[in-house]
Amino acid sequence: MIINRDLAMLRLAKQESKLSDFKQVHMGCCIAIKNNVLSIGCNGEKSNPMQCKFNRFRNFDKPEQVIAKQHSEISALSKLPWYVFENDFNLKRATIYIYREHKDTHTYAMAFPCPACMEAIKQISIGRIVYTIENGIAEMKIA
Ligand SMILES: [Zn+2]
Repeated sequence: MIINRDLAMLRLAKQESKLSDFKQVHMGCCIAIKNNVLSIGCNGEKSNPMQCKFNRFRNFDKPEQVIAKQHSEISALSKLPWYVFENDFNLKRATIYIYREHKDTHTYAMAFPCPACMEAIKQISIGRIVYTIENGIAEMKIA
């Protein structure tokens, strides 16, 4: 169920998306546990070694030749603070929020993670994804 807190987090992801320097699409992402934001990120022209690692889960003909420009999810995941990986910190409680809107109408657009980001989200054990879809918001729980 999408609650008010989710909408607030999506607004934060939206703000972050405005910082994107990628021409075609501006996407923003934040990772939070309840009201506590753990990290934020946007997509961009910059490459990211984590993106490079996970791009093999996308079906490129020649993945080694693809420049690993970072997606908003990878940007946020790679900025998670050290303490979430220590002392049995449970990231299953965390939600990753992904925001995308149409350039012209500023209405919600599909922001479901690509196979690379989905694999990264699963490996880091984030428990829930909330993302914009055409004219709406959807969520997905990860077992
Ligand atoms: Zn992606």
